[in-house]
Amino acid sequence: MSFIETAERQDLRAAVAKLGASYGHEYFVAQARSGLHCDELWFEAAKLGYIGVNLPEEYGGGGGGMADLSIVLEELGAQGCPLLLLVVSSAICGTVISRFGTDEQKQRWLPGLADGSIRMVFAITEPDAGSNSHNLTTVARRDGDEWILTGRKVFISGVDSAAAVLVVGRTEDAKTGKLKPALFVVPTDAPGLESHEIEMELVIPDRQYSLFLDDVRVPADALIGSVDAGLPQLFAGLNPERIMAAAFSVGVGRYALDKATEYAKQRTVWSAPIGAHQGIAHPLAQSKIEIELARLMMQKAAYLYDSGDDTGAAEAANMAKYAGAEASIRTIDTAVQALGGNGLTTEYGIATLLGIARVMRVAPVSREMILNFVAQHGLGLPKSY
Ligand SMILES: Cc1cc2nc3c(=O)[nH]c(=O)nc-3n(C[C@H](O)[C@H](O)[C@H](O)COP(=O)(O)OP(=O)(O)OC[C@H]3O[C@@H](n4cnc5c(N)ncnc54)[C@H](O)[C@@H]3O)c2cc1C
Repeated sequence: MSFIETAERQDLRAAVAKLGASYGHEYFVAQARSGLHCDELWFEAAKLGYIGVNLPEEYGGGGGGMADLSIVLEELGAQGCPLLLLVVSSAICGTVISRFGTDEQKQRWLPGLADGSIRMVFAITEPDAGSNSHNLTTVARRDGDEWILTGRKVFISGVDSAAAVLVVGRTEDAKTGKLKPALFVVPTDAPGLESHEIEMELVIPDRQYSLFLDDVRVPADALIGSVDAGLPQLFAGLNPERIMAAAFSVGVGRYALDKATEYAKQRTVWSAPIGAHQGIAHPLAQSKIEIELARLMMQKAAYLYDSGDDTGAAEAANMAKYAGAEASIRTIDTAVQALGGNGLTTEYGIATLLGIARVMRVAPVSREMILNFVAQHGLGLPKSY
C-alpha cells in the first residue's frame, strides 16, 4: 500500500469532484425536500463508470475495488451530494453477488448494478433484533424449487428506487435444526412484500422503509451463495458497507470543513477575519487532522479488503467507520459554530448535514458495537452481552 494514490485514482478523484460540483449541495437538498431522488446525478455518474467502478469488467463494471468506489462516494460527499445507495447497491449487493453469485446470478444482476439501471438495497435490521443480528427472525423455508420468506425489516434505505432487496434471512440446518444466516435477492414487486415509509428527520433524498415479508415466494436461485457459508458471505458485504460509511462521513466532513474555512477567512467582525482567532482556527485544524486520520484508516481498510484479507479488513473497516463518523459529526458542529447564525441557514448549507452526519454514529453499525468489536477482538477483553 502506498500513501500516495496512483495517477489513475487521482484522476478518478478529480473527475468525480468535477461531476459532484456540477450538482452540488443545493441540488441534493432541493431533491430531498421535494421527495425526489438524485437520479440525474446517479445516471450521469453511472454513464461515466463511477457507480460500478468496483464491479468486474466482464459484467460492465470498472474492474476496480473498494478503494475506487470509496473515492467516488467521498468526492461526491465533499461536494455536498453523497449518493447513499453507493453504499448498499454498489458496495454491499454488488460485492456479495460478484464474490458469491453463480454465473447466472452475476449475469442477471451485475450489468444493471454496474450501469446504474438496477438499484438493489440491503435489509438486515429487524425491529426486535436491532444490533443483535444473532436474533434475526426472518426465516426462509424451502418449498420444492422455491424459498418462502417470512419476517420484518426496518430502516431499509432506498426501497422506493430499488428493483430488488438483498434480504438477510435464516435457514434451518437439516441436521442440527439451528438457524443459519443466508442472503436472498427479493424483487421489490414480489407478491407478499410490503413496504411502508418511516418518517425521518433527515435531509436526504434516500428514504427509509419498514418491510413486511408475508410468505414471499422466490425461486431457488434467489439464494446467493451457499446456506452453509452465510456468515462469511454476509461479512464480505458488511466490510465494504463500513468502508463506504467512512467514505460518506469523510466526504461530508470535508464539505463542511471547506465551507467553514472559506467563511472564516472572509468574515471579519473585529479587526481580523474570525479565522485568526484560535477559538475558531483550532477546532477547524482539529477537524482537518481527524478527517485526514479517518480517511487514512478508510484507505487501509479498502486496501486490505481489495487484497482479499477479509479478517484484517474487518478491524480496519470498523475503525474507519468509527473515526469517520466521529470526525464528521464534530466537523459539522464546528462548521456551524464558525458560521454563527449563518451556520443554521439553508443558504449556507451546513446545518442540512447535521442529521445525516449523526446517522453515521448509529448506522450501519453503531459506535458502541464498534467499540465492543475492538474491545473483544483488538484487545481481547471479555464480552458482557
Ligand atoms: C438513516 C438510516 C438508514 C439505515 N439504512 C439501513 C439499511 O439500508 N439497511 C438495514 O438493514 N439497516 C439500515 N439502518 C438500520 C441501522 O443499521 C440500525 O439502526 C443500527 O444497526 C442500530 O440498530 P437499532 O436501531 O436497532 O439500535 P439498537 O440495537 O436498539 O441499539 C440502540 C442503542 O443501544 C446500543 N447498544 C445495543 N447493544 C449494545 C451493546 N451490546 N453494548 C453497548 N451498546 C449497545 C446501540 O449502540 C445503540 O446506541 C438504517 C438506519 C438509519 C438511521
